[in-house]
Amino acid sequence: MKDSLHNTNATALEHLSILIVEDDAVSLKLEVSLASITFGEVVTAENGQIGLMKYLEFYNQHGYYPDVVIADLEMPVKNGFELIAAIKSYNSKQYTIVVSGNNEKEGLIRLIDLGVNKFLFKPINPQLFIKTANDAFSTVQDTKKYDIEKMSLQESEFRFNLAVEGKGDGLWDWNLTTNSVYFSSAWKEMLGFTENEIKDSLDEWKSRVHPDQLEQIYQDIQAHLEGKTKYYENEHQMLCKDGKYKWILDRGVVVERDLEGKPIRLIGTHTDISARKDFELALREQKKELETIFNINVDGLAILDLNLQFLKTNQSYRTILGYTEHELDKLTCRNLTAPADQERIEILLQEVLEQGYVENFDKMCVTKDQRTITVNISMALMPDGNCFLISARDITQLKHQEMVINEYLSIIDKNIILFSTDANSLITEISSSFINRLCLNPADIIGQHFDDIISEAIPPISIDKVTQKNKRWGGDLKLSTQDKKEFWLNAMAVPRILNSENIGLTFICHDISDKKELEVLSITDPLTKLFNRRHFESQFAKVSRSVSRNKNILSFLMLDLDNFKKFNDFYGHQAGDQALIELSKCLSNLFQRAEDSCFRIGGEEFVVLYKADDIQSSIEYAKVVLHAIEALKIEHLENQPYGHLTSSMGLLLIDNSLQSNDLKEVYKEADKLLYQAKNNGRNQVCFKVFSEPVNNFV
Ligand code: GH3
Ligand code: MG
Ligand code: MG
Repeated sequence: MKDSLHNTNATALEHLSILIVEDDAVSLKLEVSLASITFGEVVTAENGQIGLMKYLEFYNQHGYYPDVVIADLEMPVKNGFELIAAIKSYNSKQYTIVVSGNNEKEGLIRLIDLGVNKFLFKPINPQLFIKTANDAFSTVQDTKKYDIEKMSLQESEFRFNLAVEGKGDGLWDWNLTTNSVYFSSAWKEMLGFTENEIKDSLDEWKSRVHPDQLEQIYQDIQAHLEGKTKYYENEHQMLCKDGKYKWILDRGVVVERDLEGKPIRLIGTHTDISARKDFELALREQKKELETIFNINVDGLAILDLNLQFLKTNQSYRTILGYTEHELDKLTCRNLTAPADQERIEILLQEVLEQGYVENFDKMCVTKDQRTITVNISMALMPDGNCFLISARDITQLKHQEMVINEYLSIIDKNIILFSTDANSLITEISSSFINRLCLNPADIIGQHFDDIISEAIPPISIDKVTQKNKRWGGDLKLSTQDKKEFWLNAMAVPRILNSENIGLTFICHDISDKKELEVLSITDPLTKLFNRRHFESQFAKVSRSVSRNKNILSFLMLDLDNFKKFNDFYGHQAGDQALIELSKCLSNLFQRAEDSCFRIGGEEFVVLYKADDIQSSIEYAKVVLHAIEALKIEHLENQPYGHLTSSMGLLLIDNSLQSNDLKEVYKEADKLLYQAKNNGRNQVCFKVFSEPVNNFV
């Protein structure tokens, strides 16, 4: 810094310098003595070449050119014309006087062209020389004064600006001659110091500047001192009292120069720009974060200008389309759109421009290797309205899978009987296959209650309980078609789960109507449609188990038509069959409860299993049966004394003492009771309680 300082010469304006270039020693001597009267410093040279060298040397030493140059014209090596032309190329305003014996017109014109200020003829007239030198002196002095005044006017203007702009800022004032600095209290406060805590010295300032930034500050100050910049300006960090660095905007200007124009005083301001720097830093961080998000996003992201030219893409985007960043530079988004989609995309683009964005539209694109892919796109106009942001996801694979799934779903829908309910047993979905089987419209079923569609479930199902317990249910369902034809489904009900919550059941079914029909046939007596003997044996075991559980009375009623052989003989076998059918209908009507069953166990022998609350009501009901058969009034003249068809019955009342393997015993006992009823005159009931020995008749 010290190198740039110049000594002040308060009387510089009184002591101007002159360079005299003259090859003739006598003339030179005279000129020097005459010039010394006026000029403070006289430099000489004996030809044009040396003259130019001395001229430039003078500048290097002083930082400014000699104030006046006097030159001869005819000189060896480099003449006066060449010298003046060279000098003017360095300093066009250089004041020059030519002293020459040559007064040719051509030469004079050339000198005027070169901008020479005065011309003196040889031999030298001392008086005229002194006058000319004095004129030159005054002219140069005036010019210098004017320049200095102009410069200080500019400086005071800047100081005024500093004072206005720098309100609240710290001020500094640096005397370049003494190298002392003044810091305002605001300057010190900015760094956390009170007035007396910090010295007014350049070293103090230097020690507080961030060491990495000092070099740049020197360079910026130097540039201003050398006149390369209008102001000095630098942003750097200063160490505060609390040990933390603060960002400072440091601005300054030369406000005082010596008479030679060299800077001797620099003043400036310190502005705390930490908040702005923090903001800039935060912005930079935010930008970095956004760039990271952009770059690592799994979705393809691209920024396009309004002509759809790519401005920026992330790796995912380039991977989807198969292009490098460089290749995309030469393409627009339109180039990548499949021809079939071009028109549609232009419409969507218009929509983006109008409403700011369009989300989730599928677009067909062509990749670099000429594959056509499906891409799901969301597109938005950026806030500045100058570019678009595109987010793209390759859904080609997904679309394919979706197609396969849809195919499967369609096959399932058409071929599998499926329906779903909510937890309240309302039907929510139904497959086409089921609709077709029911011969109904979906609207007739959706929203209906399960019980209104399903007439029987084996085993019974409680939809809300199965749903709640997250269990499965398997069984048979009986339904009716629109034209009242019954059919059976074997079903598996599985819970429907949405967001970890059980919301109902889905029934996956297959039609078992044919199987059910066979089952019914295998347990049905073809003539009477009552259950057959085989079914009687399997059912009896089940019913007897339920009796022992429920502790009520099971009635085992064995029934045989009286003198039926004679009926056949008298009325014919067909009439006999008809009588058997009528009797069976009569029994079916009497025993309609689900827990009661009628069986034909032999030619004209029947068993009825029914439940009763007590012995008395069981016996009463057996009598009802007896009278109902009589009441059929089927003529049977061979059955005397009655004259119409009657029956005899053995009623065994079974309580919960029954063992499950007692069927044979029960059968034998009932048969015995029946035999006794026959022997006792027929058309009557002989009964007893299973475990008791006493027989009774009614
Ligand atoms: P009882 O009063 O002692 O029982 O005399 P019953 O003649 O009824 O008894 P029996 O056992 O001697 O004869 C049973 C008769 O039932 C023989 C047969 O003619 C008749 N029968 C058995 N099955 C059928 C059938 O399927 N159709 C017809 N029409 N008759 C049958
Ligand atoms: Mg009989
Ligand atoms: Mg019989």
